[in-house]
Amino acid sequence: MKYEKIRKQVLEAILQAVEQGLINGTSGNIALRDDEDDVVAITPSGVAYGTMKPEDIAIVDLNGKWMDGPYKPSSEVPMHTAVLRARPDVKATVHTHAMFATIMAMGDESLRPITPPQCEFTPIHVVPFTMPGSDDAANKVAEALGEDGRSVLIKNHGMFCCGKDMKSAMDATIYTEEMAVTTYYAKVLGNYEPMPEAGEKKMKELIAADKAV
Ligand SMILES: [Zn+2]
Repeated sequence: MKYEKIRKQVLEAILQAVEQGLINGTSGNIALRDDEDDVVAITPSGVAYGTMKPEDIAIVDLNGKWMDGPYKPSSEVPMHTAVLRARPDVKATVHTHAMFATIMAMGDESLRPITPPQCEFTPIHVVPFTMPGSDDAANKVAEALGEDGRSVLIKNHGMFCCGKDMKSAMDATIYTEEMAVTTYYAKVLGNYEPMPEAGEKKMKELIAADKAV
């Protein structure tokens, strides 16, 4: 099997996302760029994740052209490849319709950090709705992530996260949903108070210097 390493990592990540309740049914998709070749392993479209094998994971080039695998790549391939093209620092991308991220994406407010570890992934802006799978949606997500963004919410759709490797992209996904859950409940309770901006800035510096505790 060609590109076994990245195919296995994509499969492991999607199963982890399902197990953690971040993905329901066949929604959501995950991509990983190869270390040497300009190719990307991405979940196929409409195939059940529970019985999926590594060889079922599709291989596309950086423009989204289907290169290998028995099933058609995810319809969101333009979103993943647009971010991978725009960001050489990004190796892995994760898109899910996790419930609370999707709820918070209905508003226009960016997600703010509630706890210190979340500062690694903020600010998380809301991208306006555009048709799923379109180049327009892909460009808007890549643009909202900018030069160093790790996560965005997509209105009436879900979230999109990225990272330097699969663990880092999955961390962004898990923490984005955590931020959405805590923000939602705090707003319902009426005690929403995100971290002060000065604290967030300091925490970001510590995380960047790898000195976070
Ligand atoms: Zn989607």
